[in-house]
Amino acid sequence: MSKKVALSACLAGRNCRYNGELKGNPDLVKRLEEEGWIIELFCPEDACFGTPREPMDLVATDEGIKALSKYGGEDRTGCLADYAEKFFDEHPDIALFVGKARSPSCGVATARLYDEAGHLIDETATGVMAAEAKARGIEALDDEAY
Ligand code: SF4
Repeated sequence: MSKKVALSACLAGRNCRYNGELKGNPDLVKRLEEEGWIIELFCPEDACFGTPREPMDLVATDEGIKALSKYGGEDRTGCLADYAEKFFDEHPDIALFVGKARSPSCGVATARLYDEAGHLIDETATGVMAAEAKARGIEALDDEAY
């Protein structure tokens, strides 16, 4: 089996969070390395919208779940989904996905989902990038679950 893991870049200490704050998880990175994983970093939001950027929320709409900018309500889903598709096409040997918990892009089973009125309706949703990993049958976990 391939020992290649896709990891949210912010967990590896990259300065790519929406507000530019560092939120790395060096213990997780060390553990993955000790277990022999080859780490491929990704950050769909930084690639699409740069850093810093307006945060976004996952919203359940009539057209399915969308990633909308928090204040402007702009639909950000397309670029994130395209990035995810391209990333996994370019790395077909990824065997494991570890995403940042609660992120609307990277959260695996911890993303917050809102209705169109802004009410929180689910805290176990899947972000846009994590959804693509799952759709491809890749084992996927939030960092806190690994
Ligand atoms: S959680 Fe995902 S999208 Fe957000 S900063 Fe980390 S890698 Fe980028």
